[in-house]
Amino acid sequence: MKPIILTSPLQGWASPLEAVPDPVFAERMMGDGIAVDPTGDCLHAPCDAVVLSVHASGHAITLRTPEGAEILMHIGLDTVALGGRGFSPCVTEGASVQRLDPLIRFDLDLLVCEARAVITPVIVTNPERFTIVRRETGKLVGIGEAIMTLEPRDAADVAVVEGDTVRRTIVVPLVHGIHARPAARIGEIARKFVSEVKITKDEREGNVRSPVALMALGVKLGDEITLAATGPDAADALAAIGDLILGGMGEKAGSGAPTPPAASPPTSVFPREGGGPGITNDGAAGSWAPASAGEQGARKPATTLPADGRLPGVTASPGIAIGQAGLFRLAAIAVTREGTGATAERAALDAALGLVADRLARKSATATGAERAILSAHTALLDDPTLTEDAHAAIAQGDSAAYAWRTAIRGQADALKATGDARLAERADDMLDLERQVLRALAGEDLDERLSFPAGTILLADDLLPSHLLGLDTASIVGFCVERGGPTSHVAILAATMGLPALVAVGPALAEIAAGTPLILDAGAGLLHVAPDAETQATAQTAFDAQTERRRAALANAAQECRTQDGVRIEAFANLGSADDAEAAVRNGAEGCGLLRTEFLFLERDSAPSVAEQTADYQRIADTLAGRPLIVRLLDIGGDKPAPYLPIAAEENPALGLRGIRVGLAHPEMLDAQLRAILAVRPAGQCRIMVPMIASLAELRSVRTALDAAAAATGHTEHVALGIMIETPAAAVTADLLASEADFLSIGTNDLTQYALAMDRGNPAVASDLDGLHPAVLRLIARTCEGGAVHGKWTGVCGGLASDPLAVPILIGLGVTELSSAPALVPEIKALVATLTIDACRAHAAAAMNCISAADVRTLARSFRP
Ligand code: PEP
Ligand code: MG
Repeated sequence: MKPIILTSPLQGWASPLEAVPDPVFAERMMGDGIAVDPTGDCLHAPCDAVVLSVHASGHAITLRTPEGAEILMHIGLDTVALGGRGFSPCVTEGASVQRLDPLIRFDLDLLVCEARAVITPVIVTNPERFTIVRRETGKLVGIGEAIMTLEPRDAADVAVVEGDTVRRTIVVPLVHGIHARPAARIGEIARKFVSEVKITKDEREGNVRSPVALMALGVKLGDEITLAATGPDAADALAAIGDLILGGMGEKAGSGAPTPPAASPPTSVFPREGGGPGITNDGAAGSWAPASAGEQGARKPATTLPADGRLPGVTASPGIAIGQAGLFRLAAIAVTREGTGATAERAALDAALGLVADRLARKSATATGAERAILSAHTALLDDPTLTEDAHAAIAQGDSAAYAWRTAIRGQADALKATGDARLAERADDMLDLERQVLRALAGEDLDERLSFPAGTILLADDLLPSHLLGLDTASIVGFCVERGGPTSHVAILAATMGLPALVAVGPALAEIAAGTPLILDAGAGLLHVAPDAETQATAQTAFDAQTERRRAALANAAQECRTQDGVRIEAFANLGSADDAEAAVRNGAEGCGLLRTEFLFLERDSAPSVAEQTADYQRIADTLAGRPLIVRLLDIGGDKPAPYLPIAAEENPALGLRGIRVGLAHPEMLDAQLRAILAVRPAGQCRIMVPMIASLAELRSVRTALDAAAAATGHTEHVALGIMIETPAAAVTADLLASEADFLSIGTNDLTQYALAMDRGNPAVASDLDGLHPAVLRLIARTCEGGAVHGKWTGVCGGLASDPLAVPILIGLGVTELSSAPALVPEIKALVATLTIDACRAHAAAAMNCISAADVRTLARSFRP
C-alpha cells in the first residue's frame, strides 16, 4: 500500500500535538497527529475521503481515506460549548470529498473571542493501523501543503496463538534500537498486564519487564523480534507492546534518520574551557617553566616515564600545582561466595538495595544537570527485576548476598558490553557503579562517605567520569592528570570549572607513578614533573607563590567593573552549565553569563526535558545571577554531544553533520519547547538567546520565525535579544550579513578553530596543534568584529581563548568587547584587562595576525607587556 499524504486543512502555524493545551489531544488519547493554529476561516479536506461524521455542533469532522485511515479534525478547543454558533459545515455524513474541498467554514473572530483556543488538532484516530512516518511542524503551512505522511503498519505483523501463548513477530523501527529509554518504557507497559511477555532475537530471550535484559539483546533498527505472551491477557499485552514499538516511541527512523547507528558515538561530551594544548599561562598568569615538549607541535604520549621525570601532556586547564600523587583506582571489594543461609542473605540483600534506593532518591531530590541524569540512570537500573531475580536465585542456591549481586550485575554488564553498542556500554559502567554501592551497603559502609585523599593531592587517573567526581572529596585535590582524554573531554571542563590545573592525554606512563610520589604540575606549560629535584622544586614554589598572590589580589578586586586601564569597558562574563556554576561565577565577580550550555540538561537523559523542567533550571540560574544578563545558548547537541533519545542517525562525519541549530531546525518541536522555556524566565529580558553553529542568515531567520511564534503563543511581548555564535568560518566571513539581523555575535573559538584548521577537537592525535591563536583563526575573529561593527553590534568570545591570558590582549585588540570564561578564571581575566590599553592591544593584535604560526603568536604574546 502506498503512503498516504495528508495536506494541511488550514492555513496557519503547524505544531506538534504537545503544543495543544488539552491533555486529551496533547497526550494522544484520541490518536496521533499534529495541530494547526489557523489564520484562515475554512477547513478543507486533507485528502480524498468519505465523511464518517460531522459533529452536531459543526466544530469537528471525521473522514476515512480509501485505505481506511480515519482522520478527526477538531476546530478549536472546547468549541462544542458554542452550540454550533460560528460553524457552517459544507458537507454531510457519507459524502465523498476530494482533497482541498471545503468542509466547514467558521467565524475565526468569534472563535478567537469566545473559544478557549483556536488551535485545531488533526488526528489519525486509528493509529493501530496507520503510523505517521513524517510530519511537518514548527512552521507556517498553507492549505494543500503536505503536513503528514501515513503508512500502514506491517501487514506481516499478525499474532499467532499456540496453546496459551500468543506470538507476534515485528520489525523494529527504532533508529537506535532498544536502548535504555525504549527498554524502560516497554517494561512500564508490560507491568500493566499479568501475562509474562518475552522478546526473542536470534534465539536469545529477554523478559520485557527487565530493561537490562532487553538492552542486553542488542536489538537494532531493522531487527526482526518475536514477542511471546503467556497468560490471561496475553493478546492485549502483545497488542499494547507491539504497537508501542511499531509506533516508533518518538524514535522512528524515516524523518531524516534512516540508518542504524554503525559506529560507536564519540564519548567526549564536555567542551574545553580555560586553555588548550600548549597554552602557557606565563606573562600575566606567571608560568615558570621553559617552553616544553607539551607545547611544541605534535606530541606522542610517553609510554614509559622519561629519565628527566618531565612528562608532557595537553593542557586542559592552566595553572601550577605542587603536591603528591593520589591514584584514582577504586579498590576491589572482596566477597566470599558462601552464604549464611538463604533467608538471612536475602534479607541482607533487600535491605542493602533499600538503602541504596533511599540514598539515590534523597540525592535526586536536590541534584541538577549531569548529576541528576546519573542518579536517575542508577535508580532505573536498581529497579530492574532481572538483577534482583538473578541474585535471589543464586542466594537460593547457597550464595552470599554480595556474591549473588555481583554475579547478577556482571552477567548483565558483560552482555551489554558484548552488544558492541557504545550507548549500552555506558549503561554497563553505570551497573558496575551500582554493584559497588550495593556491596558497600552490604558491608555496612557509609554510602555518603566520599573517597578522600591527603591534602595536596594531584589526582592521577586513566580517565575520570562525572560520576567518579561525585564520589570524591575534591577539597584536598589540587590538580588532575589523566592518561587518556583530549582537550575537549569532560575532565577538561570539570577541571576548569573547579579552577584546578589539569593535563589530559598524558599517556600510559602515568600509570607508572606510585601513590605519594612528589609531583609538580605545570599545566599551563603542559608538563608534569615527577619526583622533581630540589632546584626544580624551589623554582616551582616561587612561581606557585606568585600565582597564589596574584589570584588573591585578583579575587579581592573581582567586584570591580571590568575596564581596560584607559577606561574601555570589557564585559567579563562566565560560561555556565548549572546553578552551582552560577554561584561560583557570582562569587568570582562575573558580570553575567556569556554562555549557558543548556545541553547539560539534555545529555545523559533518556527523554527530552519538558518545558516546565527547562524553565525551572533556567530560572534557578537566572535567580542565582541576581539580575545579571544570562545568555542562554539554544541546544547544541549532535556531533560530539549525542543525546540518547534523539533519533540522529550515525554519521560518518558528525562534526560536519546534524549538530547545533541544525538539530533544532530538524526537530522544531524541541526548538519551540526550549524557546518557550526561556521566554517563561522572569524577569523578562534577563535572558538573551544565542544560536549555535550558524552557517547562514537563512538559519537565523528560521530561528527568529520560531521565536516570534513561541512569543506569540505564550503572549510574550517584550523584546528578546537574539544573538549568534560564530563557530563556522562561513559565519565569520559573512559576519557583516549576519550582524544585520543578529543582536550580538559571540565567537566559539573551540569550534571555529577546529573548522578553520580542519582538526578534530576530540582527537588527541592533533590536540597539540589545535590552537586558537593560529593566525588564520585570529583573522577570522578580526573579520567577525569588523562585520559586527558595521551594524553597531557587539562581538564577544565564549570559547576557550577567552580564558587564555595570552589571548586576551589580542582579542581586545581585534575588537572583542565581551569575554566569557570559566567562572574560576574571571578574577584573573578582570585583573589582566585592567592592565591593558586599547592602543597597545591593537598594535599587538595586528602583529599577531602577521605571524606565521600559532607557536609564533604565543612567543610574541609572551613578550607582550601592557
Ligand atoms: C566553542 O565552540 O568555542 C563553544 C564555546 O562551544 P562548545 O565548546 O560548547 O562547542
Ligand atoms: Mg561550539
